[in-house]
Amino acid sequence: MSPTIYLGLAGNPNSGKTTLYNALTGSRQQVGNYPGITVDKREGFTNVSGRLLHIVDLPGTYSLTAYSQEELVARNFLVEESPALVINVLNATNLERNLYLTVQFLELGIPLVLALNMMDEAEKSGMRLDTELLARMLGTPVVGMAARIGRGKEELLHTVISTAEQTDQSSWRPLEISYGPDLDPVIQQMCGIIRQNSFLTQRYPPRWTALKFLEEDVEVTRRGYEADPETASRLEKICREIAEHCERTLNTHPEAIIADYRYGFINSLLKQGVVERSRAMNRVSFSDKMDRVLTHKFLGPLVMLAILYAMFQITFEVGEIPLQGLVQLFDWLSEGIKAILPPSTLRSLLVSGIIDGVGGVLSFVPLIMIMFFCLSFLEDFGYMARIAYMLDRLLRGFGLHGCSVMPFIMSGGIPGGCAVPGLMATRSLRSPKEKMATLLTAPFFTCGAKVPVFLLLAGAFFPESPAQILFWLTLVAWTAALLVARLLRSTIIRGESTPFVMELPPYRLPTWKGLFIHTWEKAWQYIRKAGTLILAVSILIWAAMSFPAPPEGSTHAVKQRIQSIQAELEEAEAKQRRTSLQKELQQARGQQDKLRLSYSLAGRLGHGLEPVSQWAGFDWKTNISLVGGIAAKEVIISTLGTAYSMAETDSGQGASLSQKLARDPSWSRLKGVGFMVFVLIYSPCFVSVITIIRESSWKWGVFSVAFNTLLAFALAVLIYQSGQMLVS
Ligand code: GDP
Ligand code: MG
Repeated sequence: MSPTIYLGLAGNPNSGKTTLYNALTGSRQQVGNYPGITVDKREGFTNVSGRLLHIVDLPGTYSLTAYSQEELVARNFLVEESPALVINVLNATNLERNLYLTVQFLELGIPLVLALNMMDEAEKSGMRLDTELLARMLGTPVVGMAARIGRGKEELLHTVISTAEQTDQSSWRPLEISYGPDLDPVIQQMCGIIRQNSFLTQRYPPRWTALKFLEEDVEVTRRGYEADPETASRLEKICREIAEHCERTLNTHPEAIIADYRYGFINSLLKQGVVERSRAMNRVSFSDKMDRVLTHKFLGPLVMLAILYAMFQITFEVGEIPLQGLVQLFDWLSEGIKAILPPSTLRSLLVSGIIDGVGGVLSFVPLIMIMFFCLSFLEDFGYMARIAYMLDRLLRGFGLHGCSVMPFIMSGGIPGGCAVPGLMATRSLRSPKEKMATLLTAPFFTCGAKVPVFLLLAGAFFPESPAQILFWLTLVAWTAALLVARLLRSTIIRGESTPFVMELPPYRLPTWKGLFIHTWEKAWQYIRKAGTLILAVSILIWAAMSFPAPPEGSTHAVKQRIQSIQAELEEAEAKQRRTSLQKELQQARGQQDKLRLSYSLAGRLGHGLEPVSQWAGFDWKTNISLVGGIAAKEVIISTLGTAYSMAETDSGQGASLSQKLARDPSWSRLKGVGFMVFVLIYSPCFVSVITIIRESSWKWGVFSVAFNTLLAFALAVLIYQSGQMLVS
């Protein structure tokens, strides 16, 4: 048996790493046409002619500094897990930028195979790439490929295996490039000291250590001090002197010089005939033409708003019919159960707890799917990256960073995301203060769990223009996030902003298959959550609404009344008398339910909050649903569904939850608006809070629960009270 080959997959964000990983391992990880999707590393296996390849998909990075967690994850993997070799995925249409990372791998002395991806696109734009020449100049194998259509996959695998078999770590020499007349002598001197003292040589090549000291890399410096403080301080002293020298004579610092020379090295490589551009390259590309309009200073944002609005409109228009279909299906189910089972705890659990609770959440699946389809289109087309690009300009004015855009969009800045991956994506932010500001404001957006809540309420109180409501809520979320970020950045997390450059991928026509896979993945996540977490919480909440039962004496009167009506009903023969008796019976049952509810745990909690919550017009049912919503926002729907189902009187029969809300006199448009704003802003859901704590500390987790809930309540009260004043 030949041993497993351990491989790392690395490259810039958006170079097609995940696409390649999926093609190699047969997995279906999410692919996206914007940077920053892969944060944690993922592993998979594949078998090639009897050899097992163990592949680790690393987070996308532009560099190997210690500034961001993604880069540290990638770097530590390379140094600590010593993979047999690394497949470096490059976007062939943008070699200059992509090779910057490659140079650093080579300097670190990692055995590499270069996968020049997106060759299809490079060729289409009139570029010709000489992979053999590049391979010769860098001393590493190079394979041209197009991961999306599977081109070059076999060749890559064979190159990887033969390279891994030929290479033993010692034969692979780290690349040495010149850093010019100022730094080269210093690097020489430092390498001498490093070799003499075997300083960190177990871990890094000497030249790499010297470069990292010059770049003032915190992690390597720290390790150096731990291993050998004397040598470390000697090296640091040399670095300080040369830094001062550069500052004085060149008005720059060593880190910038190092970057300049790396780019210089790459440019000279490319100019020697690796890339040849045909005439066509000089023409303005299709993407550039589109971008003249779509990212235009004034037109761009207008087009963006129009696209969002159209997306909501489509969601409601197309989704209405299947939504009604599902509502009827669940209604038919609960009627069926009511016909089979007599009134009992089991029947109440099935009908009120499960069907009216979870069913309410599930009936939004068609709407959610249509929206996810539109979103996947925008994402695969490359438009999301443009949105990020335009928002970057806006965000900087509020003390945020261009890297905050992706976390915001993923959290639901464009409705439908999820705060949890959004919060994890804040790891790409280098400044801890900007990261904190992003972490604390990302939960304000309309994530995929809040969307159905808004769909429900907008459908109930604004049936003529639900899309507008969703649109306005999106804007409210952005306003809140930006203002709160500004507030935090000028009070408790003050500090400088760091610069950022954003790269725009070309527009690409999405494939049907890709769109359907994306849509289905997201929809399935929603359905699975409804069938597991939401189901469990719904049952808990149903139990809290059913128990403890009221004491025997208090329900005695109602019970007797029900019994006497039932007795009379059995005797009565006249049709008119029967219908009036049936009505009476229903009323009595409703009364019984109400009595039971007000005794239950949830009823008491809900009523207990009323003295405060009435300021915003919230009654006990609203209160319970909001408390439940902290577990997961969809629970707001299921709890309202259960509450209305249990307290059902005559008006309830056969109506959808949204109709029940619209008919309930204790609701009004005003209360609906206040409620939606409250749901938008208040405490992040449980999993998000845990994520915030993991990314920062438990104090910030508690802060976000308390701060967001207070802010949300203040806004809801403001809306409700000022609205009432205007009305009266
Ligand atoms: P990652 O960020 O490096 O993981 O990149 P992804 O795998 O998410 O891919 C980024 C985008 O490039 C997606 O829209 C892919 O469909 C697209 N893509 C990936 N490989 C190719 C390719 O070989 N040719 C073309 N034209 N597009 C590709
Ligand atoms: Mg990826």
